Amino acid sequence: MRRKTEFERVRIYGMQSFAKRTDILGIGYDRFTMEEAFKTAEGLMLGQAGRAAYIVTPNPEIVWASRSNPALKEAVNGADMVIPDGIGVIYASRILGRPLKERVTGYDLSLLLLESLSRAGGRVFLLGARPGVAERAAVELERKYGGLNICGTNDGYFADEEPVVQKINAAAPDLLLVCLGFPKQEIFMFKNRDRLRVGLMMGLGGALDHYAGDMKRASEIWIRLNLEWLQRLIAHPSRIGRMMKLPAFLAAAVIERLRSGKRAEG
Ligand code: UDP
Repeated sequence: MRRKTEFERVRIYGMQSFAKRTDILGIGYDRFTMEEAFKTAEGLMLGQAGRAAYIVTPNPEIVWASRSNPALKEAVNGADMVIPDGIGVIYASRILGRPLKERVTGYDLSLLLLESLSRAGGRVFLLGARPGVAERAAVELERKYGGLNICGTNDGYFADEEPVVQKINAAAPDLLLVCLGFPKQEIFMFKNRDRLRVGLMMGLGGALDHYAGDMKRASEIWIRLNLEWLQRLIAHPSRIGRMMKLPAFLAAAVIERLRSGKRAEG
């Protein structure tokens, strides 16, 4: 009989719903379309988890790093939502024979949530990036989403977390965008989830640089062709070292598939 490789995690939202996760090299992904992810995240923003909920957006680089960083792995798998950011994760899910529905990028999901909050007059706190970036991102976001209330900002280069947690709690946002890069952002959310007065947090890497206009996102055509990574590489050739993790990640998926095939035969 074929060995069951997919694991299930049951999490309680409110009291009733649960999600089944798909194991991609040790990280359990939620099987969401963008629409499903958006609806679930909206519910979490309203406090359905009963504490500060958090979303992680692991791309292949994060999955790869989590194999040798148990604290990162625990923080990622402990999230209320784990969404497949990066086409490499979708390819790996197909190689492994348990395809995820579609790519759900954290950045695009954040834009949907910001729009939804702007309609409801919701509160957002921006945490991360170099000093000054979050403030400029706030101006841009409030201009783009009239009605949105950016209730606080803080740069991402702090030595002591305590005053930052207090500042966030005083602002009590519906949505906290945690843009500290990995593994710092995942570990920050995992560690502080029980003491933060927040509806929902999202780990979003360099998103504040993008909102502020310091970094341009790939144009629509590159995104549609799933070649956003190539556009990023051309714009920032120094990322080559980081991107070389992708072939290793896909090779690991092929090896796992071959091994599970052998186990099934045996
Ligand atoms: N960053 C931070 N604190 C740190 C390290 C990084 O706030 O201690 C910020 C950094 O300024 C950048 C973001 O985290 O804005 C990481 O961006 P990157 O492009 O590496 O993330 P990606 O979007 O590729 O995951």
